[in-house]
Amino acid sequence: MEIEKKDIRSLTKEQLRDFFMANGDKAFRGNQVYEWLWSKALHNFEDMTNVSKETRVMLENNFVINHIKVDQMQRSEDGTVKNAVRLHDGLIVESVLIPTETRTTACVSSQVGCSLDCNFCATARLKRMRNLEPGEIYDQVVAIDRESRLYYNRPLSNIVFMGMGEPLMNYNNVMKAIDMITSEEGLGMSPKRITVSTSGVSKMIKKMADDDVKFKLAVSLHSAIEETRNHIMPFTKNFQLPELKEALQYWYQKTKSKITYEYVVWKGINDDKASIDALVKFCKYVPCKVNLIEYNPIDDGEFQQASDEAIENYIKALAKNDIVAKVRRSRGKDIDAACGQLANKS
Ligand code: SAH
Repeated sequence: MEIEKKDIRSLTKEQLRDFFMANGDKAFRGNQVYEWLWSKALHNFEDMTNVSKETRVMLENNFVINHIKVDQMQRSEDGTVKNAVRLHDGLIVESVLIPTETRTTACVSSQVGCSLDCNFCATARLKRMRNLEPGEIYDQVVAIDRESRLYYNRPLSNIVFMGMGEPLMNYNNVMKAIDMITSEEGLGMSPKRITVSTSGVSKMIKKMADDDVKFKLAVSLHSAIEETRNHIMPFTKNFQLPELKEALQYWYQKTKSKITYEYVVWKGINDDKASIDALVKFCKYVPCKVNLIEYNPIDDGEFQQASDEAIENYIKALAKNDIVAKVRRSRGKDIDAACGQLANKS
C-alpha cells in the first residue's frame, strides 16, 4: 500500500532544512528548495536545476506539490479575467483579475464554497466543501500576476480576499498565505495593498488585531439594522452588530487602520431613511469609508438593485456626515465574475 505523500509546501523552511539534515544532506539544500517552491512558484521537482538528480528523485519519493491548475480562463469585455482554478483533488474555485487604469487587482478565493449563508450571494449556495491550503491561495495570486504581466504589461498591484469563501473561517491558512505573499522569500508584496474582506466574524477580527496584521480590513455590512441584517445574512444572528461594533473598535485601536464597509442597496430592503440613518450612525463608531456596491443579480426574485435615487440619498447623507463613500460599478458581469457571482458554473 502506498502511503500518502505529504504536501511539501506544508513544511516551514526550518522543517525543510531539518528534513535534508535528517537525510544526510546539508540544511542549505532546504533553503534552495524552499526558494523554488515559493519565490519561484515552481510546481514540479524536475526543474529544480540547482539540486542534484538524486535529490530531486528523493523529493519525488517523499512529497507532492499540491498546486492549482488554471482550467479555464474567460475574458470580459471590460478586461476582467476570470480563472476557473482546479485543485489537486478536482474541486474548483474561481479567482478574478480586475484591471483599472492605475492598478491590477487580484480577487482570490479562500474556501471551496462558503461557510456562511448570505441570501444574495451565489457562492453561499454552494456549501463549504473545504478550506483552501496556503499554497492554493498563493498560487491564485501567482497565476493572476502572470496574466497581468501578459495582458497588461505590469505586475499585479493589489489583492482582495473577496472571492469565494469567508477568509476568517479559514484563518490560519489565509494568514500563512499572506505571510508568503508579503515575505521577501515569497512575492514581496506590501501588505498595505492587500484587503481581507469578512462578513463580520467578530472574534476573528479581534484575533487579527492581536496578531498585529498589516493589511486592510473590509466588512460586508449591507445593513446596520440588526433585524434586516439577520434576515439577509442569517448567520449574523450569531454575530450581532453590538459585538461587531466592539470588535471593529478594538481593531482600530490596535491597528489605526480605517475600515471599509461594503454595502449593497436593495429595493425594499435597505433603501429607506431608517437604513440610511442606521448606517450613518454605525459609521461614526470607527474611522471608515463606504463602498456602495452595485447588486449583481443571481436569479433570485427577492433581491433587486435599488433606484439611483436611493443610492443618491445614501451618498448625500454620508457626505453630509463627512463619511467618504464611493459607488463601485461591477466588473466582469458578462462572464459571471462580479461580486457574489462566483459559483463555478463551469
Ligand atoms: N465572505 C467575505 C468575502 C467575500 S467578498 C465577505 O463577505 O466579505 C464578496 C463581496 O461581495 C461581499 O461584500 C459580499 O457581500 C458581496 N456580494 C455578495 N453577493 C453579491 C451580489 N450578488 N451582488 C453584489 N455584491 C455581492
